[in-house]
Amino acid sequence: MVFENTLEFARALDAQDPLRAYREQFIFPQHAGQDVLYFCGNSLGLQPKAIRPALLAELDHWAEHGVEGHFRGEMPWMYYHKFLTEQSAQLVGALPHEVVVMNTLTVNLHLMMVSFYRPTAQRFKIVMEAGAFPSDQYAMETQVRFHGFDPAEAIVEIAPRSGEDYLRTEDILELLEKEGDQVALVLFSGVNYYTGQFYDLEQIAAAGHRIGAAVGFDLAHTAGNVPLRLHEWGADFAVWCSYKYLNSGPGGPAGAFVHERHADRPELPRFAGWWGHDEGERFKMRKGFRPMHGAAGWQLSNAQIFSFAAHKASLDIFHQAGMESLRAKSIQLSSFLQFVLDEADAGQNRFRTITPRDIAARGAQISLLTDPNGRALFDFLAEHGAIADWREPNVIRFAPVPLYNSFEDVWRLGELVQRGLRG
Ligand SMILES: *Cc1c(COP(=O)(O)O)cnc(C)c1O
Repeated sequence: MVFENTLEFARALDAQDPLRAYREQFIFPQHAGQDVLYFCGNSLGLQPKAIRPALLAELDHWAEHGVEGHFRGEMPWMYYHKFLTEQSAQLVGALPHEVVVMNTLTVNLHLMMVSFYRPTAQRFKIVMEAGAFPSDQYAMETQVRFHGFDPAEAIVEIAPRSGEDYLRTEDILELLEKEGDQVALVLFSGVNYYTGQFYDLEQIAAAGHRIGAAVGFDLAHTAGNVPLRLHEWGADFAVWCSYKYLNSGPGGPAGAFVHERHADRPELPRFAGWWGHDEGERFKMRKGFRPMHGAAGWQLSNAQIFSFAAHKASLDIFHQAGMESLRAKSIQLSSFLQFVLDEADAGQNRFRTITPRDIAARGAQISLLTDPNGRALFDFLAEHGAIADWREPNVIRFAPVPLYNSFEDVWRLGELVQRGLRG
């Protein structure tokens, strides 16, 4: 599509947008009496209006029934995690028994590694992207140490070629071939939090399996951002959080995927709790752990009802809107953002986009590497009601979110950037 950098053009795109009504389902922070330009949904998604009544309903349920709330009502707490399974599975392209909502992301990453990072003297390495999210780096480092290996030897990171901003798939595949049978685990994010690059997960999973390694994905910036086909791509496990693109509120619950080929492997080492135990026997309080079939067998604790209720209210919106439609709008929205940012910077080179321009290799994020005055630009945006995200030393990340951002938002942001650069 040929874009024009005018308010009228942006409004015309909004008028044709089949998802435009979803914006009304979210609460925007206010700046000078107006909705902020919110471009931070990759860090904390906006609040769906549906969450408040969903939380109040659970409070009422508790008030009315006390402990009996576990067994009463349309969504008894006893089975609460199951009410989120179907929609979560659709979101990541999995079968329902491959998915469970539980805990938080880093906890799930550790639980999955207990089962799927099983290093031996010969095969002990983890291959991952350089500059992964810090929590993932700490998880890898301490898991490696836990097994008695040296992170400097065991963790193999892949960085972009010198002078380039993001990874080439061919380089990832080549490294995997080279490290070969020393690799125990391949662990990649789906969309890198910093550059916004969406990796070719299908090829990475296939290459990891070719060399006999387990393959896991951290989908914190991916779930609810781009459509996924985890079952088909064949990863052994994946984890994600729900408070970024999934709008389920700060500290919201996480998801976990375990491929069905591992659904009935009680011999897999794991750290268990009563909620992962065979449901029919859970309350017999006997010795001897017998895991539930599938991902549910990795649960530890009973459901955190309030955060699950918020997550459920948000999942309903995704279910209604559909990931394919969201992705179609997301591509247009991020392309328009790229266009207005390029126009704002035309002839100046004050910043460079470090997110792939190829729409297949990015989701709803554009990251700019700025000149040394980037912080002033970022502060200018904040003072004028645009919320983005700053990463040291000089990266500004914008997330144009198809559920609630409009083309007009994007145009206004572009205009602000232009003014900010004029300084
Ligand atoms: C946001 C994010 C996390 C955060 O982990 P929590 O356990 O939810 O605090 C971890 N890893 C990645 C890749 C992230 O983007």
